[in-house]
Formats: sequence, C-alpha cells, structure tokens
Amino acid sequence: MGKIIIAGAGGFIGGHLTKELTVLGNQIRAVDIKPLNKWYQINPKAENLVLDLREKENCYNAVNGFDEVFNLAADMGGMGFIETHKAACMLSVLINTHLLMAARDKGIKRYFYASSACVYNGEKQSDPNNQGLKESDAYPALAEDGYGWEKLFSERMCRHFREDHELRTRVARFHNVYGPYGTYDGGREKAPAAICRKIIEAKLFDKKEIVIWGDGHQTRSFMYIDDCIKGILDIMNSDIEEPINLGSSEMVSINQLVDYVEEIASHKLKRKYDLNAPKGVRGRNSDNTLIRKYLHWEPSISLKTGLKKTYDWIEQQVIASKENDNRKIIFNE
Ligand code: NAD
Repeated sequence: MGKIIIAGAGGFIGGHLTKELTVLGNQIRAVDIKPLNKWYQINPKAENLVLDLREKENCYNAVNGFDEVFNLAADMGGMGFIETHKAACMLSVLINTHLLMAARDKGIKRYFYASSACVYNGEKQSDPNNQGLKESDAYPALAEDGYGWEKLFSERMCRHFREDHELRTRVARFHNVYGPYGTYDGGREKAPAAICRKIIEAKLFDKKEIVIWGDGHQTRSFMYIDDCIKGILDIMNSDIEEPINLGSSEMVSINQLVDYVEEIASHKLKRKYDLNAPKGVRGRNSDNTLIRKYLHWEPSISLKTGLKKTYDWIEQQVIASKENDNRKIIFNE
C-alpha cells in the first residue's frame, strides 16, 4: 500500500482513479485546481486539496512525503475545446514540468503521465478505415495542434527525467475515454457524452432533430472508464518505459455511435450534419499489439455496454439539473 498523489482528481478519470486506489487501501492525496463543489467525485478517505499545479511551489508542497504521482491534470476537453483553446492546452506543460521536478527532488518512486492519441501524426489518420495507430506512428511528429504537441513534449520530458534522473516514469496514450462522472455539457464534453446528452434532451424536451459534428463518417474507438483505470494501474506497476496505447480497438463511425445511443434511448431522431463544426481527424483507432504483448490484456468492455451505463448516469444528471440546477456530487466510500 502506497502514499499516492493524484493530480486532476476532481476530473473524470482522476475521480475514478482516486476511488479505486482508496478501495485498495492506499493513502491518497487528491489535488485539483477546481473548487471542491465542482469535483465529479469527492472521496472522504482522501486528503482533498485545491491547488493550481502550474505553480512550481504547489507541486513541491503536493508531493512532499509521498511515494507515487499520477498526473491526470490538464486543461482539456473534446474537439470543440481543444481546437479553440490551443494556448490554454499548451500551458498544461507547466503542470507536468513542475510535477516532474518536484518528483525528482522529493524522491518520488514512480510517476504516471496521461498522454493522448492526439500525439499521433495527423497524416496517418486521414482514412476512416484506420487500421490502428501503432506507438511508432507518433513520429515523424505532426501532432494535433496545441493539445497534441503539449502531450508529445511532456512525454519526452518524462523520458528524459527517467534517463537522466532515474525517475521511473510511465506514459499511457489514452484513446477517447468515456463513462459516468465526467463532462457531458458546457463545451468540454466529448462525443459519447455529448451524443447521450443531446438524445436525452431531445427525449425530455420533445425535439425531433440531432445536430452531429461533421458528416458522421469519421471514425474513433472509445474506451470505457473501468478498462482505463485497470490499464493505468497495470502500466504504472509494469516495466513498460516507452509510451504505450491505452484504448479500445472497437472502431465505430460517429453515425454508428449515434445508432447505439438511439437504441439505448429507444428514440430516433432526424440527423442534421454540421460540416463547419470541429471534427478532428478522419479516422482513429488503437493498435493494441504492444499492450497485449506486455500485459496480456487489452481494453475489452464493449461500447454498447459502456454506453448504457454512461447514458443512465447522464440522464440522471440532466433530470436533476432540470430540477435544481446543481451537479450531483458523489461522496464515495
Ligand atoms: P478532466 O478535464 O475531467 O480532468 C482533468 C482535471 O485536471 C480537471 O478536473 C481540471 O480541473 C484539472 N486541472 C486542470 N488544470 C489544473 C491545474 N493547473 N492544477 C490542478 N488541476 C488542474 O479530464 P479527464 O478526461 O479526466 O482527463 C485526464 C487526463 O487524461 C488529462 O491529462 C487528459 O489530457 C488525458 N486524456 C483524456 C482523454 C479522455 O478521453 N478523457 C483522452 C486522452 C487523454
């Protein structure tokens, strides 16, 4: 059992990770810049701190006396956010840089960094029938402008801190993660949550039409949060030193994603395609050869199974916010 810091614990993945590591009996210091009433999950067994981790001094104070760091803190969101907030996305470099320096100087034993499929070369994602991005496809580098370049640079910082300072860094490239207790409105939400919310609202408010970003033929794979948490912990505790994909290889088009959610909702809508909306690359999928080789495992929760749980949670939130305009915070034990 360890003494573990989770940066970005008030967010979607950090909240789930805090819950899991607390259940496993670890001592957790959970840190996020957001005020506590905006955290998706608050764990009373963790020490919950509100700190801006772009500030070097806050990073040194946060890691003091602890053993491991999971860095899931970033100023990020779906395509609608990252295409319009490139400078803000790049400034997350301060979080990882200062956390790495603090980890090095305060004797942290292991360090996890949450990277992204947005590091991959855009030219390798122009075909909707993407055969799966291999880890080597990040180079020659042509990452997603802003957000992707920050991730690629921060991956390399982790590598050099490992090589030069013997800090055990581990890096996973997440491919679209979804599930309950995450962003589903406000402009930072990603496709699965956005489509669930739009269909739920259409049902509740008797709307006949759904607006889809792009022509609906662009493809992605989506990883359910439980697979993501298992992968993070297994990668952190492994000897895998180079960045590795952590994603589902069940690729679907956005139209198929909408079909699945309509099926869950038992509600069909007329589709209107907004070709001017941010839509990202044409085709993206995760090649899981390496993770299968190292961990003898890969994310396997089906999209239909994960979407049902996500849809049910978002439906509760939309109904609750309609009633009292407050996001429900869960105090998990
Ligand atoms: P999220 O936005 O829900 O969580 C990130 C958290 O970081 C937020 O709660 C935010 O307040 C916090 N944060 C931002 N700036 C901070 C600062 N200066 N100091 C302290 N905390 C700060 O996002 P998420 O989906 O949970 O993503 C977690 C990590 O995984 C991020 O690094 C993200 O880039 C990466 N990632 C996520 C996905 C995905 O599909 N969700 C895909 C690829 C990579």
